[in-house]
Amino acid sequence: MIPLFRTAVAPDAADRVTEVLRSGLLGHGPRTEEFEAALAARVGNPHLAVVNNGTSALHLALRLAIGRDQAADDGAPGEVLSTPLTFEATNWSILANHLRIRWVDVDPATLNMDLDDLAEKISPATRAVMVVHWGGCPVDLVRLRRVLDEAEAAYGVRPPVIEDCAQAWGAICHGQPLGNHGNYCAFSFHATKHLSCGTGGMLVLPGRESLPRARLLRFFGIDRQADRVNADYDVAEWGYNFYLNEIGAAIGLANLATVDERVRLHRENAAFYDRELAGVPGLELTARTEGLESSFWLYPVKVEDRVSFIGKMAAAGITVSAVCRRNDAHSCVASARASLPGTDAVQDRVVHIPVGWWLSDEDRAYIAETVRSGW
Ligand SMILES: *Cc1c(COP(=O)(O)O)cnc(C)c1O
Repeated sequence: MIPLFRTAVAPDAADRVTEVLRSGLLGHGPRTEEFEAALAARVGNPHLAVVNNGTSALHLALRLAIGRDQAADDGAPGEVLSTPLTFEATNWSILANHLRIRWVDVDPATLNMDLDDLAEKISPATRAVMVVHWGGCPVDLVRLRRVLDEAEAAYGVRPPVIEDCAQAWGAICHGQPLGNHGNYCAFSFHATKHLSCGTGGMLVLPGRESLPRARLLRFFGIDRQADRVNADYDVAEWGYNFYLNEIGAAIGLANLATVDERVRLHRENAAFYDRELAGVPGLELTARTEGLESSFWLYPVKVEDRVSFIGKMAAAGITVSAVCRRNDAHSCVASARASLPGTDAVQDRVVHIPVGWWLSDEDRAYIAETVRSGW
């Protein structure tokens, strides 16, 4: 079977991990700091903290963005506007922070949040906006900023934005890599993501002010420079066990050196499909927008009769997948259900075909040919 996901391991990762194991220092250490510095240079934003996974980065982002007083005036949980078309980690991190989800519809063209619907739903009750760059395709962050400008002019409050960049390492929005648009940005370094630590993640911050707090909260609220020998330290604000270990940092450092080439291959394969699959009856590509350069961690298409499509591809040895159930359909969030016509219009049609660095020219030609032959 041609897989939909694969884990990249750079050639020197094994040696780097062996070095960590021999060093006897497996927890927090120099490689974590080296990885953090290398990431800061790559993202172009020094205000970041590596963590143990992308979900922790989302969790920490909400905690930092919303602050300690999370309840609305009436004591009800604060409201976060979010998209249903994502991996559950995005939305369960909202619930884990004792916040409430209010669903914003999906734009059927991009599969990202519909920013017109966001503009309608943003209100003084909005405590944060959570957007997801699905498959690596950037949300238009310049347009999003205008929506927030208008909300601020209307209500005098500007909710913070959290970008779930878990699938979007390497994506570019209006000339800038993600992580440079003034928001909280959560990245995942999960095994299958463009850049992998095995498991790992990073939170990029909107500015320098929140960095000390982010670094404290990822380690129980304890200052690592504190005098723990004499127990002479204070935790002013309790935090989590979210730090990245040295093994993960060593793998991440090795993979960081090779990630550009992988992203390039994903993009090249996507451009091939854009040409080969345009106009196939019963299949619709997602929108391509000037200035929004996807990193194509996924290649989503919309197909008629998805069950037959998946069956046909499986029989041909090609793994395809819907990847996620629309999150608002889960029973644990039944109380938040709302009418979402854009999501309804695509939920049964979205499917992802293999696009990754592991495809040979023959593989991708075979995939395109199999799709074109119908289902
Ligand atoms: C992978 C992923 C996450 C979670 O990242 P982990 O590192 O596995 O915790 C969150 N959101 C989206 C959209 C993802 O694809």
